[in-house]
Amino acid sequence: MDLYEYQARELLEEHDIPTPKAIFAQNSHEVAEAADQLGYPCVIKAQVKIGHRGQAGGVKLAHNRDEAILLAESILPMTIHGHKVNGVLVAEAKNIIHEYYVSISVDRSSRDFDVLATANGGTEVEEIAKEHPESVKRLHIDALGDFDLEAATKMADSIGFYHADGAQAAQILLKMWQCFKDSDATLVEINPLAKIGDPDDESSKSLCALDAKISLDGNAAFRHDGWQRFADSIEADPYELKAQEHGLHYVHLHGEVGVIGNGAGLVMSSLDAVSGAGKEQRTGIKPANFLDIGGGASAAVMSDSLGIVLSDPQVRSVFVNVYGGITSCEQVARGILEALDKLGSGKPIVVRFDGNAAAEGLSILAQADNPNLHVAKTMEEAAQQAARLAADAKENH
Ligand code: GDP
Ligand code: MN
Repeated sequence: MDLYEYQARELLEEHDIPTPKAIFAQNSHEVAEAADQLGYPCVIKAQVKIGHRGQAGGVKLAHNRDEAILLAESILPMTIHGHKVNGVLVAEAKNIIHEYYVSISVDRSSRDFDVLATANGGTEVEEIAKEHPESVKRLHIDALGDFDLEAATKMADSIGFYHADGAQAAQILLKMWQCFKDSDATLVEINPLAKIGDPDDESSKSLCALDAKISLDGNAAFRHDGWQRFADSIEADPYELKAQEHGLHYVHLHGEVGVIGNGAGLVMSSLDAVSGAGKEQRTGIKPANFLDIGGGASAAVMSDSLGIVLSDPQVRSVFVNVYGGITSCEQVARGILEALDKLGSGKPIVVRFDGNAAAEGLSILAQADNPNLHVAKTMEEAAQQAARLAADAKENH
């Protein structure tokens, strides 16, 4: 789960990482009050879960109350790269002397944690890495070891923090690590970690987190009361909600081929087969969802499943892949016909049955003589056919 900046900075503050004073506001009246309270100039920042807000006009400086109101009125209704703005953060403006980038994230390939840092902060790290790859340092935190002040200091030095900033940078890295662990985060990113203050007064300079991006590991929600405090960030997908009500294991993936199977492994392979077919056929067709009907599914479960998958308007075809063990292909076939009767859907369905009662299941489907029902012998063939049918339907739409 990704947090909004105003939520992420709360976690940083709780871990004693310096941030500018700021207030979250949802209408121009609240913005004016907040700006008056913080003083001018202040920064008005669109709250959206996407980077590049600055470049998109979502981060602006207000020098007085009237300007704050005008900016609020222009930023609040914005949609940035497809994301609707959810309120603004009004923050104290700081004088920036330099911008650094620092992040801690899970590194799945080396099975530990990565500290990424560069003295060229401000823009997105992907771009910095493209233009100045040598400036981005990647250091590992051993998953079983610890990260102490000595290690953090070594990192800060090797990263290229200017001499005077090294000690404070090491402290901030340590606190970020604590925040990362305490929050069960998968990403804690500060960009810019800005050196602020009066350029002519050395004693006024310090590091401050001017922007924060934090992602939390959804699997750890139970350890944090379901993160009710971040309820604003918990977006419910209507299809996932409906599936949950029916006790089905469904994940919405937003492609064109609905996928239903029994057993997580088989469904995952089916997703790969569909993606592979879309690539091979050069159509870019992708799976629309993961749906595991589990073991021993009844006709009713199959019918509910198909109902949910077909209700997704992005779905152009469905691939049903069942390897009958305790699940009977006959029950699955009855469920498919039941759903078609109820829904009267015209979307093509490609079925591959094997194992328990496969012959019975196939004969039930054959008797139905429904032109939208297709049968394939292997998983590969079925995936190819489902992807082809989805591409055709999309083209003819
Ligand atoms: P992003 O574009 O979504 O990453 O949003 P940021 O919060 O990082 O803001 C973008 C840029 O706005 C930063 O890199 C800064 O250059 C600038 N900015 C943000 N806050 C301040 C501030 O307090 N003072 C000044 N002068 N610039 C700021
Ligand atoms: Mn930023």
